[in-house]
Amino acid sequence: MYAAPVDRLITELSKLPGIGQRTAQRLAFHVLRASEQDALGLADAIREVKERIGLCEVCFNLSEGPRCQICQDERRDRSVICVVEEPADVIPIERTHEYRGVYHVLGGALSPIDGVDPEDLKITELIGRVRDGEVNEVVIATNPTTSGEATAFYIADAVQGLGQDVSVTRLASGLPMGADLEYADEVTLGKALTGRRAL
Ligand SMILES: [Zn+2]
Repeated sequence: MYAAPVDRLITELSKLPGIGQRTAQRLAFHVLRASEQDALGLADAIREVKERIGLCEVCFNLSEGPRCQICQDERRDRSVICVVEEPADVIPIERTHEYRGVYHVLGGALSPIDGVDPEDLKITELIGRVRDGEVNEVVIATNPTTSGEATAFYIADAVQGLGQDVSVTRLASGLPMGADLEYADEVTLGKALTGRRAL
């Protein structure tokens, strides 16, 4: 219907989450109307983020360089590891200012129906960190969803299976069931963090 480059842009935009065909068209026309500087600025930002941002070799959070800023920070308490599903979940926890430990980003949650098995997540790496480090507590902050809960129990089992003196805790209830951590407000999340309970 459109010139090939316009079609291509619409196709690429429609791959973004929550962007249907109509919205993709609207965004494509916005880009066409935008100044060259703004449009190429967007293209450059996408290229730069893909070229420069990778995963931290320790915690698998987003990182510019081999280790993320949190893992590099000497003041962080390495005896406490907070386990989250996605890099986006680190931000709301940091915003609460209630947490001084380090993180471990799994890269998703267990969901056999969708073909997400333990080996698809960074669980072996987490167990390695607990086994080899001086870890006292693993705080599981996966989302309060079915797959988040299943992941929490799987990890609790694996950590306890090490037979080390490590407590495994889960964020207190109060987080809306089925909600994403990413969208929790900081007061609720701060309370859930302070009130965490043993698993
Ligand atoms: Zn890190």
